[in-house]
Amino acid sequence: MAANTGVAQRFTAAIKDHHHKRLLAPEVRAPPLPPSPAVTLPPVRLSALLLVLSSLAAASAYNARPRLIVVIVIDQFRGDYLDRYRDDLPPGGFRTFLDRGANFSDCNYNYANTRTAPGHATLFTGAYSNGHGIIDNEWWDPLKKRMVVSVEDESTQIVGLAASAKGSSPHYLLADTLGDELKLATQGKSKVFSIALKDRASVFSGGYSADAAYWIDQDSGAWITSSYYRASLPRWAEDFNHSKRAEKYLHQDWKDSDGHVLRSAAPVAGKPSSFYLLVGSTPFANDYQFEFARELITGEKLGQGPATDLLTISLSANDILGHQVGPDSPELRAMILATDRQLAEFFEFLGRNFGLANVWLALSADHGIPPLPKIAAALRIPALALSAKTLRDQVNFTLSAKLSPQHPAAYVKEISYPLAWLDADAFAAAKIAEEDAERATGEAMKQAGFRAYYTRTQLAKSAVPSTEEGTKYLHSYSPVGGWYVMGVPAPFTVAGMSGTDHVSPYTYDTHVPLSFFGLPFQPGTYRTHAEPVDLAPTLASLLGINAPTHSIGRVLTEALNPAQRPASGQKSSPSTKAERIEPAVLSLSGASH
Ligand SMILES: [Zn+2]
Repeated sequence: MAANTGVAQRFTAAIKDHHHKRLLAPEVRAPPLPPSPAVTLPPVRLSALLLVLSSLAAASAYNARPRLIVVIVIDQFRGDYLDRYRDDLPPGGFRTFLDRGANFSDCNYNYANTRTAPGHATLFTGAYSNGHGIIDNEWWDPLKKRMVVSVEDESTQIVGLAASAKGSSPHYLLADTLGDELKLATQGKSKVFSIALKDRASVFSGGYSADAAYWIDQDSGAWITSSYYRASLPRWAEDFNHSKRAEKYLHQDWKDSDGHVLRSAAPVAGKPSSFYLLVGSTPFANDYQFEFARELITGEKLGQGPATDLLTISLSANDILGHQVGPDSPELRAMILATDRQLAEFFEFLGRNFGLANVWLALSADHGIPPLPKIAAALRIPALALSAKTLRDQVNFTLSAKLSPQHPAAYVKEISYPLAWLDADAFAAAKIAEEDAERATGEAMKQAGFRAYYTRTQLAKSAVPSTEEGTKYLHSYSPVGGWYVMGVPAPFTVAGMSGTDHVSPYTYDTHVPLSFFGLPFQPGTYRTHAEPVDLAPTLASLLGINAPTHSIGRVLTEALNPAQRPASGQKSSPSTKAERIEPAVLSLSGASH
């Protein structure tokens, strides 16, 4: 009886899958589906049933799981942008999420170190820095006595460049990712790839077991990877690099809808002329990334294997431009509208190739951005542009005056605003232990204008006040790096004398989109509490696989179609704890047990 029920469910799922595919492919159409009727076993003979099942099995996607999951992370895309520009967005791009997806409008990072490397690690591990270990893009290494990049790995080489260069890997990552769990659950049958202009965005999205993470050589724009993943580029990627597609975008003018030139990607004599700087701050860079994504999908035959594949695309250009012009400039608006058009084209490609019923899409960002200080100041909002170097010198001056008046020392090696990296050796010379050193530095930072501070020692012991702010800094803790102090910046203070920068516990940095599109999701705007850590466990639950090792997110049950909702009696309202749903409800048939 149990076997018959299983056959019935698979049969119904296969029929529905086939039915939806006919409905949805090749055109781009969307859920929602009508509520599924109760399952009854059709009166067909077993042999006929098996024949139908075997013929449909080839077309059916992995027990009704999607063929492909694409997670799009837009670097520095603030959570309010979609509402701000909603009226300017035609159907197809962002509106796929807004109108036909499950859109969480109140999604905030619950930590303070809102940078690119930790943001991507958070989205794909479902954990914050105290789980995944990635505290910043770079940190002070007390053994190497220098700042190290979060993905640098001297045991690897860059793959795809003629000259040899040190490669990258996720070896500093302390937790696994959604892609790793997909690999484990399918014993490697799922393919996992990640793409970004930036190495850190690509590497942390993929995780340990990704088939490859791709990013670009900043000078030439060539797509590269690391020997950590593979010994050479695949043929399709080599062909892409030889096709002169990077050069295609150099010398082009980026124009707005009225034909006005917003900026040119042409090299200027005497100025740096790297692809990253010239093309990277224009929408051309996103076009370039999507061209590569299409080639990857085709070349690696994504969505055609026996298991669900995962592709992550982190669009870096939005961040490169946003730092320069801020969130309120007409250029950034034009960039967002261009991103919208690019998403629409890419979704159209996915629909044509797979039928969107066989794809799940997710959208988020690694962090937001504050306004340019002058924009905030013009509204009489206290705002300030600071120099991190001046701050560091000021803190070292205060510390020297207190600890070694006869011997001024560089006690603080670097301030990656608002995070100070201490030189343990300098403090040792003054016979000062870590806890005292960090507290003295924190006090000097307060004198220099920080509102408060948290020391590494304090965070390691979880000795913080039980406040919202305390929790954010606990989540920012990592055991990597040496001694450090996290300064709490005043709102709207930005390091750098031009442009703007993100790394604070405030909403302008923490608020990001979190949207899903696909058959399991009930379209609508959800104003319930959500965090980027919820993305990985929600997708893992729907796939019926383990959430990443350190995941603390919850399954966003309120956004699931009735067939995917918790069984009756289970709590369906949001809570801060992870909620699980039974794997059996994966079936499109609506049957659950
Ligand atoms: Zn940035």
